[in-house]
Amino acid sequence: MHTFLFRCPHTGHNVQGRVDSIDSPEPTYVALDCMACGGVHPVNPRTGKLMSEEVRRPPRR
Ligand SMILES: [Zn+2]
Repeated sequence: MHTFLFRCPHTGHNVQGRVDSIDSPEPTYVALDCMACGGVHPVNPRTGKLMSEEVRRPPRR
């Protein structure tokens, strides 16, 4: 289990997130339930950054 903090883009509060694993070698975003605003945010658990803060190019699928 990996815990980290991210900043809620709506409230600006630091919120704790948890993921089972951060073993993936590629940037991976997890959808986290936000305790501050009640929404869901895509966050990179390794950096604690939101997808909107990190992405420089569109994700490929
Ligand atoms: Zn939030």
